[in-house]
Amino acid sequence: MTDTSDHTDEFSRLRAHMVDEQIRARGVRDERLLRAMMDVPRERFVLSGRVADAYADRALPIADDQTISQPYIVAYMTAQLEPAPHCRVLEIGTGSGYQTAILSLLCEKVYTVERLASLAVEAKERLMEMGYENIAYHVGDGSAGWPEYAPYDRIMVTAGTPDVPAPLVDQLVDGGILVAPVGGEREQTIVRVTRTGDKTKEKYMLACRFVKLIGDHAWPES
Ligand code: SAH
Repeated sequence: MTDTSDHTDEFSRLRAHMVDEQIRARGVRDERLLRAMMDVPRERFVLSGRVADAYADRALPIADDQTISQPYIVAYMTAQLEPAPHCRVLEIGTGSGYQTAILSLLCEKVYTVERLASLAVEAKERLMEMGYENIAYHVGDGSAGWPEYAPYDRIMVTAGTPDVPAPLVDQLVDGGILVAPVGGEREQTIVRVTRTGDKTKEKYMLACRFVKLIGDHAWPES
């Protein structure tokens, strides 16, 4: 056996453990989602110096002072989004591309927006090399959404925002679901927004800690 396959086996073991102990044990029951979390090699999305921590129960730093979210938070938010195979999903905050990969396995198409070009380029190269094909990439201010392909069945925001940006609600289909961390700079609550006609219903779910969503409809650049 080569060195590489040894590592692959070890990562599969760590991944299975992560799915059982951090995600299933905390109540996530969606089997498609659990399978997706089992499929995506998280070790490919973390900084090379942090590969040993890839399956730890926490967020990790990535380039440009950003973070890859804790596996449980990724699973929790994805479960709240209720992704179905026919869904077109807008994701704000590509970051490492880890959440993008999970969504790409669960939905028809993912439209992902990242503010920092260097992260977007790296994530795109990584995801293309890994064979994820149903993803469209955009560099820009995702607090304004991505109007060109709107409306979306689902919208996932993976950076903390003081309020749900109005343009995102506008770009959601009737009956659509949006999930975002909403609150202060240091702590937020995961909010699930459902749209019915011109009305929205918000449900506050779980405390979390995300880096800031910086843009015209979120936090100003400091
Ligand atoms: N889902 C990512 C989490 C990345 S952290 C992952 O799993 O790795 C949040 C990301 O949102 C950062 O990369 C940050 O640069 C990006 N971001 C912040 N403000 C943004 C904005 N207005 N539009 C798009 N991306 C933004």
